[in-house]
Amino acid sequence: MAQKRKPPKKKPAAKRPPRKRPAKQKIQPVEEILFRVEGKMSTFGGPTDTGMTATEGLALFTPADLQDPKYSYLFLPTPPPGTTGLGRRLNPETNYFACRWNYSDTPREFLRRLLARVENPANGRAADARPVDWGPNVSTGRVADLSPGLAKALGLKTDDMVRITISAFRATPVKRVKPVRPAKGAAPVVQPAAPTKPVIKQFVRSPNCSCRKVGTKIDKIVLHCTEGSLAGALAEFQKTDSRKVSAHYVIDRNGDIYQLVNDTDCANHCMGANAGSIGIEHVGSETDSLAPPQAAASGALIRWLLQEHQIPRTNIFGHDFTPGYCRPGGTSCPDKLFGPVHSQVTIAAWVAANV
Ligand SMILES: [Zn+2]
Repeated sequence: MAQKRKPPKKKPAAKRPPRKRPAKQKIQPVEEILFRVEGKMSTFGGPTDTGMTATEGLALFTPADLQDPKYSYLFLPTPPPGTTGLGRRLNPETNYFACRWNYSDTPREFLRRLLARVENPANGRAADARPVDWGPNVSTGRVADLSPGLAKALGLKTDDMVRITISAFRATPVKRVKPVRPAKGAAPVVQPAAPTKPVIKQFVRSPNCSCRKVGTKIDKIVLHCTEGSLAGALAEFQKTDSRKVSAHYVIDRNGDIYQLVNDTDCANHCMGANAGSIGIEHVGSETDSLAPPQAAASGALIRWLLQEHQIPRTNIFGHDFTPGYCRPGGTSCPDKLFGPVHSQVTIAAWVAANV
């Protein structure tokens, strides 16, 4: 039924409100996880640690650092009797720790400058601590060694689970969200919480990436199948001598998400369509379908990417069906990961059900 229009109310010209100046865009820091590890811990360092020899040093510090006020707090004023190494000279009451660093992802100089977040997932306690050494040995089955003081503060005992995170912050403009007003008499509208970025198990930086051209908008997501194992995919994305391929994310069959390239950079995953796309690899063979935890992780990651980059839901494509993709002969990727038929209709149906 057509509705009668009310005649517009005339406003006196003199009362026109002054033009509003455009509001300054707010900037908020967004956390980017560069390293994260979770597993069993133990303690190390200080005068009573007989697991360290009297001369044992630290991977990240040298005796010259004893003179640097930034670092000297980590050490006792004098070496314990009979010792010369920095390991036994650590002040066990300060917050320090060791992990098995890959120095190409987290270089030594980078580690020396930062504080990491160390958490006890069982009780939620957390503290900032400084990385000082490489370890523990992989044969221990543990992922980190903490200072005795830090372990005590977090309520951790040997072989308890610990979580360690190193993150960087980048400034991004805050997106304005218009509040939705409930109609008169209607129940209040509950707005769903904005999706947050799923936990990245590890940032395994790939060298096969480039800066996006200034002004390029991220406008699509490309879904891939690794057609091989997680280890095989991660290794392939480190190679600089052959196809120089990469992706932004790899999702393992157990749902673990690895990041290899920052969203702000171009990965080399979809010839002809890399400029404005995010590439997500899913571990699987040509005949596999997605494993349930992998599908859940992929859905969560895509939901966050859609919001973060304001990508339309209709712009999620299988590799072979991506607009602009131009490899002669095409590709069989993403095979049958998202449904029984290799088609974009299958992908769209999966997105509708899972994202
Ligand atoms: Zn692919």
